[in-house]
Amino acid sequence: MKKDTRLIHAGRAKKYTGTAVNPPLVRASTIVFDTFAELKHATLNRGNRVPFYGRRGTDTHFALQEAMCELEGGAGCALYPCGAAAVSGALLTFLKQGDHLLMVDSVYEPTRALCDKVLAGYGIETTYYDPQIGAAIAGLIRPNTKVIFLESPGSLSFEMQDIPAITSVAQQHNIVTILDNTWASPILCQPFALGVDVSIQAATKYIVGHSDVMLGTATANEKHWPALREHSYLMGYCTSADDAYAALRGLRTLAVRLKQHEQSALTVAHWLAKRPEVETVLHPALPQHPGHDIFKRDFSGSNGLFSFVLKQGSQRQVEALIEGMTHFKMGFSWGGYESLITATMKLQNLRSATAWPYSGPLIRLHIGLEDVEDLIDDLDAAFVRFANAAD
Ligand SMILES: *Cc1c(COP(=O)(O)O)cnc(C)c1O
Repeated sequence: MKKDTRLIHAGRAKKYTGTAVNPPLVRASTIVFDTFAELKHATLNRGNRVPFYGRRGTDTHFALQEAMCELEGGAGCALYPCGAAAVSGALLTFLKQGDHLLMVDSVYEPTRALCDKVLAGYGIETTYYDPQIGAAIAGLIRPNTKVIFLESPGSLSFEMQDIPAITSVAQQHNIVTILDNTWASPILCQPFALGVDVSIQAATKYIVGHSDVMLGTATANEKHWPALREHSYLMGYCTSADDAYAALRGLRTLAVRLKQHEQSALTVAHWLAKRPEVETVLHPALPQHPGHDIFKRDFSGSNGLFSFVLKQGSQRQVEALIEGMTHFKMGFSWGGYESLITATMKLQNLRSATAWPYSGPLIRLHIGLEDVEDLIDDLDAAFVRFANAAD
């Protein structure tokens, strides 16, 4: 089955849908049994998508968990109240006091803050590594290194990681690899085929796709699913059936939405690359991107999220650029149908292991489903405001 078709079938087994097209929305705290035999069966199979207790999920959750495994290729999927909880939940499953974590330097900023503020307090040490390190990650491994965390492309800066080079080193040392796979959504990259042990999605983004739900998933391979499931259960992570339902609904249109996001984003990226104010466009699908070969090897397409770096620009000019847009709203949680814009004046402040090569401000765009000509007109006017705000 091709991936667009898999999105239509995923999680829609007859046992979940019954006679309807969609699995019904089942809200429950208590699950009740008629016979002792049923109760015993549910108890024995409580980790295997058999209703047992609300915190373990209902058929709505099970349908989503099964869909994520069908799409990403894992053995089991844990649901979390948001993407950040999936990140912390996956990390804390495999790390304890005295352990060492290798974390990519271009990681999503709240993940970095989790390492520096929470994990450090638990006695877990983090070393940040260059996103372009590849197999040379072997040189950073210590006897107590338990997890290598990856995110590709990098948040804001879009460096591509050589995922299979890193996972094969990790396997030789029996180290767990966790990938934040949110940019790819469940369909643009197949993490388990690249040797990853646990794949995280902020379902908040493209899976839900409508900017109205917080939800996270962590999907694990056969070897690591039992530990992930147990940790998630004991920590009490659970999600509402309504949110799981919204994610299932979002999945059905994911491929068609992504194709439009991709096409419009590429149009805008090519337009930006020709602007005199722009130093570089950070989009891995552009041939001039340093990670383009890896992108072509490991990803089947791109989406609506990328950045560009200005040659120069004062705070006042950047404010003039991003304020007063008609279609682009200022905001962070991308992956909905609408366009977004944010600015970062000094990306170096979010790096500790690598030198950021550009001095100008960075602008990140999420290209939504509006007509791309309207978006380009909006950006064109933004560059006029930018020029007029110069001293
Ligand atoms: C948004 C995001 C998260 C966090 O997801 P939330 O649902 O907002 O908590 C984690 N990782 C990446 C790469 C993200 O973009």
